[in-house]
This record gives sequence, structure tokens and C-alpha cells, in this order.
Amino acid sequence: MMNAEEQIATRPRSYESSRCQFCDDPIDADSGPFCETCDENHEWCTICNDYVHSDEPCRHIYYDDCGAWLGSGSYDPKAAEHDVKLLCQLIGREAVGHLRAGLDSGDYKACYVYGSILAHHGIVAEFNGIDIGPTLTAVAHLYKSATGNTLVGSGWLLSLEPGKTRTADLLSVKWIDEWLAVQKRDRKGAANG
Ligand SMILES: [Zn+2]
Ligand SMILES: [Zn+2]
Repeated sequence: MMNAEEQIATRPRSYESSRCQFCDDPIDADSGPFCETCDENHEWCTICNDYVHSDEPCRHIYYDDCGAWLGSGSYDPKAAEHDVKLLCQLIGREAVGHLRAGLDSGDYKACYVYGSILAHHGIVAEFNGIDIGPTLTAVAHLYKSATGNTLVGSGWLLSLEPGKTRTADLLSVKWIDEWLAVQKRDRKGAANG
């Protein structure tokens, strides 16, 4: 049986066509599915199980500052691990508890909301029936340095889709449990020292 990371990182099937799937230019059949130009503009999402245009990616993948693709549908979901754990550190144990319960049971709503010019853009982040959106927003700009990036952590959470990203939900639970275990060990260490 494949582990969580391997399941997410399933590679795309190979295409056999002599035309670019996007612009219809002739291409080498085995270099497909896109011509060189269109290839640069498309990313594979392992959740949609399809290519998405990088100008309008699906909710499962997103671009970080360095131009890497991250998110539950990216090839390397583990790339977000450090930043999700950093986010746990910043939002505090109570919010982490709701986050964990929501992800474990699949009871959550997470997405970006794009408002009109007058209305605010924002995020919906309801885990276990509790709205942790304001907490995520409050810590969003705290760390953006060599220590980690909170936007990557919340970006990861918002790339999850109830019922569709079960493997990534549970991968997040695993990271949270690892973070909790470290906290517990540190508290014990502090109590004994
Ligand atoms: Zn093309
Ligand atoms: Zn997708």
C-alpha cells in the first residue's frame, strides 16, 4: 500500500497525440500533451488529476514567492510541512485543536472569498464548526523570513477541499500530531528542568 505522500504524488498519465492539447500546434507525440510554450503555462494537479492553466490554477495548487507550486494537489505536498507546523505555533493550541478535529473528521470549510471592489477579500476557514479565519488572518504577516512563511501554511489549509483531499487532510493531521508531540515533550522537559 502506498503511503500518504506517494498517493498524492501520483504522476500524470502519458498522452499520445501529435497536437498540443491547448493551442493545437503540432508536437512530438511522446513529448505531449503540450507544446513547449504551453508546457510552461500548465501545472499538473494531483487532486483534479488533470493539467490546470497556471494563470487560473484550481484551488489545490498555488504559487509561492519563489515560484514553486505548493498545495494539496502539488507534486511535493511535504514542501508545506514546515510552514504548517509554524502556523500551529502561531495560532495557538486552542485553534490547533479545532483545526485537527476538523481535518480528522472532514468537517471543515476552507476557501478564499473574492469580494467586489467595495467588499473585502477574505478567507473562510471553519474547522470543527469554529471559525479560525480571523486567527489565520491575524498571524498571516508575522513570519515571512528564513524561519518560514505563514502564508504557505494557510495557503496549504485553503488548498484542502472537503471530501476531495482526504489524503492531504490526514497528512495535515499527521503534521499537527507531530507538532503536538514536540510541544508535549518540550513542556515535560521544562517541567523537569
Ligand atoms: Zn501549445
Ligand atoms: Zn486541482
